[in-house]
Amino acid sequence: MEKQNKFATWMKKYGTYLTAGVLVFCLAAVVLVTGLVNSAQNVENNVNDPSIEVNTTPLTFSMPMTNATLIKDFSSDELYLNSTLGRWEYHDGIDLVSTDLKVFAVADGEVLEVSESSLTGTTVLVKHSDSLVSLYASLNPEVEVKEGDKVKAGEVIGTADNTAGNESADGEHLHFSLIEKGQKIDPANYLEFEVK
Ligand SMILES: [Zn+2]
Repeated sequence: MEKQNKFATWMKKYGTYLTAGVLVFCLAAVVLVTGLVNSAQNVENNVNDPSIEVNTTPLTFSMPMTNATLIKDFSSDELYLNSTLGRWEYHDGIDLVSTDLKVFAVADGEVLEVSESSLTGTTVLVKHSDSLVSLYASLNPEVEVKEGDKVKAGEVIGTADNTAGNESADGEHLHFSLIEKGQKIDPANYLEFEVK
């Protein structure tokens, strides 16, 4: 009984302060939670806000040769006979021939590298985005671009030739590859060409 009396006395004396304290605490908690919810909503709104620019302009692709005939398709699962080397192998690009041997950039980009190799001949790499690079091999050594050049889709890069030692039996042709995230992919994913 004595205990209860003590509590009642204490409550009489300090009850108002206690109630006020609890109220202030609750109010602060409500303000804090509302603030957190609002900021989370803002993040969500920013993601959907069309006025915030994100560089997602899709690349426009065009063919690397005009009136091209596909003489060897891309293959990552079916072996092709490489008539030059006399062995069966996968083909990490497409081989194109045409009456017009001019070779064009397939999309806007920047020339990453111009190189010479006995296997792939004169080769040009063009970077189109952080993840996509195009490769033009078996070119005539007299190319029209150099490292660092900006190119537009359809701009002349060079001329198809017979400089690739691993495909010399195919004559003058373009060996074209697309590299996405470091992997050679089927160019048909981006380019439409007729298989003849
Ligand atoms: Zn090839």
